[in-house]
Amino acid sequence: MSIFPASPPSTEPQAPGKPVDFDRLAGSEETSWQRAQPQEALIESTGRYGYRVTLHGGEAHLVAVAVDDGQHVGQCDCKAWEYHENPCAHLCTIRKAAFLGLEDARGEKVRIPRLDLDAHEADERAVADGGYVDQARRADMEARR
Ligand SMILES: [Zn+2]
Repeated sequence: MSIFPASPPSTEPQAPGKPVDFDRLAGSEETSWQRAQPQEALIESTGRYGYRVTLHGGEAHLVAVAVDDGQHVGQCDCKAWEYHENPCAHLCTIRKAAFLGLEDARGEKVRIPRLDLDAHEADERAVADGGYVDQARRADMEARR
């Protein structure tokens, strides 16, 4: 038995999480995908990759999601994401909302940004949470030296 995980963690310092396989879930009977009802959820943008997602009747959770080289990467601070391999309902909510072109609480389109494009943007939006943000900032500063 190998001591290495099947898929190595991303080595991209700016990646806001680990690979997220939405495609395997989409249209499946998977609970987290079924539970994700973006029309009934509160979705608030918290930064470039960040959203605060409150499912109907649930608690608010912080989600980060992006597209890295054609692959979704992300994370969530909920228990389901911590203990299960599949993307949680919060991540699925953002994925669905972006796909459907829904708007967040401020009336801005929910979008899943591409890391490779954003890496070249100089201006930072004010962000408040998540180590991935600090990592992205550091990577940005390194790149500009
Ligand atoms: Zn979650």
